[in-house]
Amino acid sequence: MITCGHCGCTLVGEIKKGKYIYYRCTHYKTDCNEPYVREEVLEEKFADILRMLRFDEEVLEWIRTALKEGHDDETRYHREIVDKLQKEYKRLEQRLEAMYVDNLDGKIGERDHISAVSPPLSPVVAFAFPFGPRPAPQTDGSDRGT
Ligand SMILES: [Zn+2]
Repeated sequence: MITCGHCGCTLVGEIKKGKYIYYRCTHYKTDCNEPYVREEVLEEKFADILRMLRFDEEVLEWIRTALKEGHDDETRYHREIVDKLQKEYKRLEQRLEAMYVDNLDGKIGERDHISAVSPPLSPVVAFAFPFGPRPAPQTDGSDRGT
């Protein structure tokens, strides 16, 4: 249903000269001054609206992509941290094992053992939060391609 933009009444279609379809406001004969509108003109207006709707769909698609990329960044970021932490853990584990062997061999004393074990733990924390809180993911797409 189409309504008049001037008075809000329903528009009705009328065939003129047997082929042209005009739309007019049902309030026309009393006090609405809106003129008859050719069907082609109305179609053009609807086409404009449809184009706007399609534009909205493009914007939605862009938002979906941005959200997905943001999520991918997040996932990649966490996976990188887990990888680094696991490597660090493995490195420390091997180091402890090496120290244990060295200790069995009598290469290091008790005091060296303790001081060698404690310090490496802090770089792990320093890696996980190197620059403080992480900034929000970029959504403008300007720095993609890596
Ligand atoms: Zn009207």
